[in-house]
Amino acid sequence: MQNGLNSSLTRRIVMTVVHQLSDWLWRFLIVITIVPVGWSATARAAPPVTLTAAERAFIQAHPVLTLGTGDAWEPYVIVSPDGHISGYDADILAQIKRLTGLDIRLLPGDWRLRQEQAQRREIDGLSTGGIHAERRVYLNFSDPYIRLNKFVLVTKGNPLNIRTRADLDGRSIAIHRSNLSDEKVAQGFPRSHIVPLDSVDAVIEAVSSGRVDATFDNGAMLYRANRIGSPYLQFALSINESLDLAFGIRNDWPEAISIINKALTALGDAERQRIQAHWFLTPLDNTKSLTSRVSLNNDETEFLDRLGAIRLCIDPNWMPIEALLPDGSHQGILHDLVAELMQRLGRNTELIRTTSWDESLATIRAGRCDMISGAAITPERSEYLNFTRPLLTEPLVLAIRADNTFDGSLNHYFNQTFIMVSGHAAIELLRRKNPAMRIVEAPDVATAIRAVANGNAFGYIDLLPTITWTAQHNNILNIKISGNLDEYYELAIAVRKELPLLLSTLSKAVASLHPEDIEKIRDYWISIRYEQPADYRWLWPYLCGGIALFVTMLLWTHRLTRLNEALRAANTRITLLTITDELTGLFNRRHFHEVMEREWRRALREQRPLHLLIIDIDYFKLYNDHYGHPAGDVVLKRVGHLLNFYTRRGSDFAFRIGGEEFAVLLTETNQDAALVFAESLRNGTEQLAIPHIGSHVAPVVTLSLGLVCIFNDSPTATLLNWETVYHRADELLYQAKTEGRNRVIAGQWHASTPHSATECHH
Ligand code: GH3
Ligand code: MG
Ligand code: MG
Repeated sequence: MQNGLNSSLTRRIVMTVVHQLSDWLWRFLIVITIVPVGWSATARAAPPVTLTAAERAFIQAHPVLTLGTGDAWEPYVIVSPDGHISGYDADILAQIKRLTGLDIRLLPGDWRLRQEQAQRREIDGLSTGGIHAERRVYLNFSDPYIRLNKFVLVTKGNPLNIRTRADLDGRSIAIHRSNLSDEKVAQGFPRSHIVPLDSVDAVIEAVSSGRVDATFDNGAMLYRANRIGSPYLQFALSINESLDLAFGIRNDWPEAISIINKALTALGDAERQRIQAHWFLTPLDNTKSLTSRVSLNNDETEFLDRLGAIRLCIDPNWMPIEALLPDGSHQGILHDLVAELMQRLGRNTELIRTTSWDESLATIRAGRCDMISGAAITPERSEYLNFTRPLLTEPLVLAIRADNTFDGSLNHYFNQTFIMVSGHAAIELLRRKNPAMRIVEAPDVATAIRAVANGNAFGYIDLLPTITWTAQHNNILNIKISGNLDEYYELAIAVRKELPLLLSTLSKAVASLHPEDIEKIRDYWISIRYEQPADYRWLWPYLCGGIALFVTMLLWTHRLTRLNEALRAANTRITLLTITDELTGLFNRRHFHEVMEREWRRALREQRPLHLLIIDIDYFKLYNDHYGHPAGDVVLKRVGHLLNFYTRRGSDFAFRIGGEEFAVLLTETNQDAALVFAESLRNGTEQLAIPHIGSHVAPVVTLSLGLVCIFNDSPTATLLNWETVYHRADELLYQAKTEGRNRVIAGQWHASTPHSATECHH
């Protein structure tokens, strides 16, 4: 058994490597085929920055600016013995020079002295500084060029077992004198003894030796500690403070600030984070997008000021989505998302604690909460709640006991009992769709899963991450995920109907989130937290009694971890298998239906256009006839790779919907761009130059494409469905075939209001 597992594992690893290699090779081939014909979107350089006449004149008048900085602030500023300066700040300044021509040099030295010099205008400003009101008297600040989260560092080994803010009560915390940002953070610890020291190295020495209990850091101190050979510090806890650094320039030179800001915008978050990852020891998780200001209008700002802290209701028991921990704190994916939104709005929430999801719903209904961190949108809830656009979309899955079977059709199991958590919107949904289904309600996830494990209920339905999380954290091993229910759960922030201005501000904040920001938070909770080791402290008293017992336990836990890993891998595999086309790796027809349905509803709700492309290979039967079926399969794969290559944005989806038929759905684009996209697919395929003797239209394999653009803003639109749209795209494809093949025929949706045709150009 063990051997069998190992060899199948080895085989799988080898297959994965082979698959990866061939994948890269394909991409490489496609790139070298496409780039020479002028398709260069992937390799575009950062856009050149356009400067105003005043800005250009400023650079002419001030060819070099000098900014003061600290001399022990690695890795922002690293001074080598020969005086050469490198580090994060130097890299950013080099980019600013490349993008705008503005040459800014650093002058490291005693930080307090540099600040005085900047005040006296002996130097032009400061680098590596926070944005502080005290400095605004003589400096203007650029947009932040880095954001780092603050954490607490303690002596290696954490001898005082400092894990929470409260653990720092009565303890000493060293800070670097003249570091305004740390002084401010220190004010949040009034019960600690704050010890200001003269240099960063002195702080490191004091904490390493245990003379002082802790200090604040954002990665730079750890870097410095390693550099000076004193790596006796370790991370203890995160604190909810982040440090933004900006360039400060003497405030009679506003042009310099506008030039720097243009360069930072052109540089982009991704490039900035790449530089950051290069210099900092903290994982990239700690970095946040800087393009995060949400601009509110006066009404909204006034409203939020009047409202004060926003009263927040949550689901107290739905990890990893969210939960209320025993210590009363809110945790999970939704916690992190709400925290991010609040940071962008510069506002706070007040957590209203409840003991169940039902109670949370009742609380907001009674007006004792202002918002809910995440709820599915249902007609019943829409009577008293408004929703932002969804933040999370998760599949609903069915968990059953490991020794049971499920054939994929719910209606075969209507004589069985299903269990779900009370108040869950999916109950409503499933009951509406399957009136014969017997659903009993459980107060929480763990109770429900236990009922399935004990055989008291046949199946439990919830989100995949919730089931795996709860099963693992409660050591329930005899359940399995038996399939996808073809239903997606979309969680959106819900706001009391009486607060439309709160809805509009939250919607703006949600719109400012990049899908990657959400993905990062989601991944953190779904992949990393599973690996958290168990807490064995409680075992110590028993240890004296029996080392043997301890060893057995360890072995058992080890096995358990491996089983959990296998379960997780199996879950991921199931989800992927059910939506992937085996030959091409694109999404399959089934997933096409799901995505179309979902995106169609979203487009209706948000009044946004959708573009659907249906694609068919020309004279493919003749290709098979001449070159054979296996060669035909290779063509399908290559076309599939091409589609995959062109649809890497989160808003584009490619599917294989039939033998040699494909579909592409574009959700965030306008019709001109969609047409260009379709044309580049057609051209890209032709450029693959796959010989096709049998074709009557070209000597190589070609595509015919039907493109339909839909924008529905009339009430009748809601009566249509996505299948009609698909049908329309198919008609256009047919037209492309009859008009000679190897071409794109685009059409608009004519069934709604007369002006919908022009809306597609937005
Ligand atoms: P048209 O230009 O009008 O589309 O002509 P066509 O020959 O492509 O159209 P038709 O729909 O008659 O033929 C589709 C062919 O695609 C039939 C079948 O031989 C081939 N085909 C379908 N699925 C597969 C597959 O998975 N592998 C291979 N190799 N061929 C397939
Ligand atoms: Mg066909
Ligand atoms: Mg065909």
